[in-house]
Amino acid sequence: MTEEKLKKIIDFYGFKGTLKNNGNYGNGHINDTILLEFDNDGVISKYVLQKINKYVFHHPDELMQNMKGITEHLRKKVAEAGGDPCREVLTIVYAKNGSMFWIDENEDYWRVTEFIGGASSHDIVEKPEDFYITGLAFGKFQSQLSDYPADTLYYTIPGFHDTRARYNNFLKTVEADKAGRVSECADEIKFILDRKDLAYYSMDSYDKGEIPIRVTHNDTKLNNLLIDDKTGKAICVLDLDTVMPGFVMNDFGDAIRTGACTALEDEPDVDKVHCDLTLYEAFAKGFIKGCDGKLTDHEIDTLPMGALGITYEQALRFLAD
Ligand code: ATP
Ligand code: MG
Repeated sequence: MTEEKLKKIIDFYGFKGTLKNNGNYGNGHINDTILLEFDNDGVISKYVLQKINKYVFHHPDELMQNMKGITEHLRKKVAEAGGDPCREVLTIVYAKNGSMFWIDENEDYWRVTEFIGGASSHDIVEKPEDFYITGLAFGKFQSQLSDYPADTLYYTIPGFHDTRARYNNFLKTVEADKAGRVSECADEIKFILDRKDLAYYSMDSYDKGEIPIRVTHNDTKLNNLLIDDKTGKAICVLDLDTVMPGFVMNDFGDAIRTGACTALEDEPDVDKVHCDLTLYEAFAKGFIKGCDGKLTDHEIDTLPMGALGITYEQALRFLAD
């Protein structure tokens, strides 16, 4: 970012002190994340500045309204439980005029949160215990938000897990065959068509009144958690951009898809790609414990279908692309 832009942001927020650092931070793929560090006569203040990706999130103002509501609710829950809201919840930093973001000349939205120190986010699940901790943290997130009115949240990505709609879109894509590749992908297309039930499972369960809509995170991977460097415990759920109304099985499923896989997402040798059941079990145990009795028995029964459904949805999306 240019020095001029940085100056404007510092002025807009009223940050004091000498700027010591403004380097890129973390391993996020969606937003641009910068760590700002100021020195005020030896007292260091750190902030996380992020440019919200407007190609993914078309209404950053709505996204920030969601984030405000969610973080305020979480702060109350953490305080009630005797925790430290400044470390266990993202804290939005407001600008001098009370705004939650600064808009630049390209209509890009920039927001700031307080930097949470003494903790790191990890990219890879190294042992089942890591994944148990991940499950526990996302389960607790679910539990803390179980009394938050999901219908007041904006859909920051409309139709994100409407697998049924994605399936129907897939059929149209195959029919149109715009790139002339359908004949090369006959086996893969058959694989998807043969498992149509997976596309319909979550939405049909909701239509039948079997599962509720809840507040869901929608990006439940290990590196969206901050793990305390000393205790090894998860302290804070990050990346609230995709918090939306949804089904709990999808949060469970996306975590399994990303964390219990035996290979990287772009591994070309599919024989190496499996679901590690030890990791699956570790996550499931943590998640259900973290949910603290807030899920219905039927919802718990549907969790494994989330793992299949979200993996299927991802395959469907990539094949359609
Ligand atoms: P993703 O690729 O998961 O969508 P993203 O681009 O949306 O990521 P974030 O997940 O919000 O970005 O942040 C990227 C990284 O920056 C996090 O994984 C974490 O390491 C770090 N980070 C973000 N906010 C904070 C914070 N307030 N305090 C400390 N670290 C933070
Ligand atoms: Mg992230």
